[in-house]
Amino acid sequence: MSGSTSKSAELLAHARTVTPGGVNSPVRAFRAVGGTPRFIREAKGPWLTDVDGNRYVDLICSWGPMILGHAHPDVMAAVQDAASRGFSFGTPSENEVALATEIVRRVEPVEQVRLVSSGTEATMSAIRLARGATGRSKIVKFAGCYHGHVDALLAAAGSGVATFALPDTAGVPKSSAGETIVLPYNDVSALEAAFAEHGDEIAAVITEASPGNMGVVPPAPGFTKALRDITTKHGALLVSDEVMTGFRCSGAGWFGHEGQQGESAPDLFTFGKVMGGGFPAAAFGGRADLMGMLAPDGPVYQAGTLAGNPVATAAGLATLQGCTDEVYAHLDSTAHAIADAASAELTKAGVPHTVQWASSMFSIFFRDGAVTNYDDAKDQDTEAFSRFFNAMLDQGVHLPPSAYESWFVSASHDDEAVAHVIDALPAAARAAAASTDSSATL
Ligand SMILES: *Cc1c(COP(=O)(O)O)cnc(C)c1O
Repeated sequence: MSGSTSKSAELLAHARTVTPGGVNSPVRAFRAVGGTPRFIREAKGPWLTDVDGNRYVDLICSWGPMILGHAHPDVMAAVQDAASRGFSFGTPSENEVALATEIVRRVEPVEQVRLVSSGTEATMSAIRLARGATGRSKIVKFAGCYHGHVDALLAAAGSGVATFALPDTAGVPKSSAGETIVLPYNDVSALEAAFAEHGDEIAAVITEASPGNMGVVPPAPGFTKALRDITTKHGALLVSDEVMTGFRCSGAGWFGHEGQQGESAPDLFTFGKVMGGGFPAAAFGGRADLMGMLAPDGPVYQAGTLAGNPVATAAGLATLQGCTDEVYAHLDSTAHAIADAASAELTKAGVPHTVQWASSMFSIFFRDGAVTNYDDAKDQDTEAFSRFFNAMLDQGVHLPPSAYESWFVSASHDDEAVAHVIDALPAAARAAAASTDSSATL
């Protein structure tokens, strides 16, 4: 059981005076689940320790990057070695070449990459490149897919088949989001209809390779291929956002996991999360002819003071080198052990739920029936999730604080950590079932 959280509460109160909401990324504020976000002081392997000294098995793993576990000795050594030689040069350096080489080696259709510092920058830059390369301006995205906080991509709403998007957030002009067409995920006929109407204006379709930001909603059989066929037919590019799935769903990301053939490869990929090993490093890449359109070789401008940072790239390279076949097999078996046990307890407690998978990424939707798009995902009992989440947290298991997220495991989740999670499940399943329990719904 977790003990006092008074130091986290004090820190949050102070943080709110100097930072909006007290957090530097909104989901961390626990608004969806209620309660006090835990301020973490240190992390090792699969365990987080908060400022009050409570320990938690971590099923967020920094939203994916900590695939080897926290403070992995090989990554630590690489970081310390790099840092001992300076932090940032503003000139080319060796580690960035090594990391780019590793990415190109792993993901067959990617011939060149440009390194950036966040997934947001990667998708923003890929969109600019797609527009520059095609001379077109419209972008197709899918409702429920998250591509970072890029203005043109912060639009998920819209009824009907091919509505022009209204921005989801204040501060984004209609003119930015107005070039974005939002479609329901996994809906080939909606895609065909949008291209029938606007085919010669569409620069690119951007999709999460396998969506993880509305919960895990994998592409239906044939959907990835339909994306490729339709974009090719109309001269638009296909941008596969693998910021979350890249190097997590397999050594070659979702692309490697789904087993696409060469001719069905996307034109551009974006990467982040795992490839930074917990540091700010991300990338976009693809065919050399397209990437050659970037400055300094080509007309599409793109740059970054800290892009290819020597410490971040050392962490990313060491992390990728640690991602062996054994690691992926361990992620799979660990994720299944946890998900199967959770599902069994929820069933026992009579809680409707559906588990969905993308390789070792999974989420539990608190509803009956498969989730194929964002509307399905929203049709779940988020209050039941909140009670489940808080009961797990009280017992020392830190789930992602939202019903619309994947759960992540790492190579360091050992038998002890998994047993700790499994022991917490019965009480959490009972809490999820107890719809009159108001203790968790702040
Ligand atoms: C996390 C994420 C991003 C944004 O990456 P940041 O590093 O947070 O900017 C973009 N696309 C997908 C699919 C993501 O999961």
